[in-house]
Amino acid sequence: MSDDSDRLKLPPFRDARFYRKRKHSSYQEVSAPCLGASVADTHAHLHMLPDPAFELARCAVNGVRYLCMIVDPVEDGEEPIERLDDWVSDARRELAGLDSGGHCEVPRVRIAVGIHPHNASAWNGEMRRALHRLALDARVCAIGEIGLDYHYDLSARDAQRSAFREQVRLAQDLGLPAALHVREAHDEAFAILSETGFPPAGTLLHCCSLDADEIAPWIGAGCFIAYGGALTFKKLEAARKAAVSVPLNRLLTETDSPFMTPEPMRGVGCTPAHVVFTAAALAQMKAQHDGISPDEVLSALYENALGLLDRNREELA
Ligand SMILES: [Zn+2]
Ligand SMILES: [Zn+2]
Repeated sequence: MSDDSDRLKLPPFRDARFYRKRKHSSYQEVSAPCLGASVADTHAHLHMLPDPAFELARCAVNGVRYLCMIVDPVEDGEEPIERLDDWVSDARRELAGLDSGGHCEVPRVRIAVGIHPHNASAWNGEMRRALHRLALDARVCAIGEIGLDYHYDLSARDAQRSAFREQVRLAQDLGLPAALHVREAHDEAFAILSETGFPPAGTLLHCCSLDADEIAPWIGAGCFIAYGGALTFKKLEAARKAAVSVPLNRLLTETDSPFMTPEPMRGVGCTPAHVVFTAAALAQMKAQHDGISPDEVLSALYENALGLLDRNREELA
C-alpha cells in the first residue's frame, strides 16, 4: 500500500477498455498492449475498488488470469475474504455482458493475509491467533503484506519490527511464502529476515523500485521481486536498470491497485487489469537485456506467479 492521488478516480465506462483522463473531464481510449499471453497481478487490494466483480471481468477480457488479493484484517476486517466467492461468480455474469467477454475466464483469485506495517501497533497475541485462523483458509497462499515502512512511520518502529518478525515466523510455521512491503527500511528488513531465516516457501518483495546495488542482496537471498506501476515512471530509470538484472525466474508483475497506476494510464485509479501495461514494459526491457523474446519473458512472469502463489496446501506442507 502507498499513497497515490490517482486512487479511485475510475473512468465511468462499463466496458473492458482502458481510458485516460483528459482536460475538461473527458476521457480518451488507450489501446491495451497486445500480449497474447496470460498475465498475473500478484498484489491487488481488490476490495478497495468500487466494483470488485466488474474489475475481475475486466481482467478476464485483458488476459489477466491470476490475482492475489491482499487483505489486512486490522484495516479490512474479514469481509473481503467472505465476499470473494460472490465477486468471482458475479464476474462471470458481468463477462457475459462485455464485448468479447463470452470466451474469457475469470482470473483465479488467491488471498494473502497480513498486518501491514502501518497497522503494526495493533499487533498482539489475539491478532496473531486471528491471522493464523484466517491463513488456514485453502485460498490463502501467502502471509502479506508485512514488513517495515519508515517513510510514513504510521506505527512506532519497535511495533513494526516485532509485528514483522512474528509474521515471518507465522509464515514459516504455516509453510507459506511472505509478501513484503518495505519502504526506506530495506537494510533492517533484510537483517530481521537473516535472523529469523527467509521462509522456505519463498519471499516476495512487492512494489520494488530499488536500484541495482540495493537489490543485489535480495536477489542473492533468492527472493522474488515484484514490479508494479512504478517500473513505468519516467524518473525511475535506476529501478528499470535493476529490474533487468533480476533473474528471469525471480521476476513478478503486480499492480497494488487501487494505487500506483502505470504509464500511460496515470491520472486514473489503478485497477488490476492495468497490470498488462507493466507486464508489457517489463517483458520488453527484460527480453532486450537477455536476448530472448518478450513472449518468453511473459510466460516466465506468469509461471513464476503460479509457482510461488498458486500452490495448494499439500505442496506447501
Ligand atoms: Zn505495499
Ligand atoms: Zn499493497
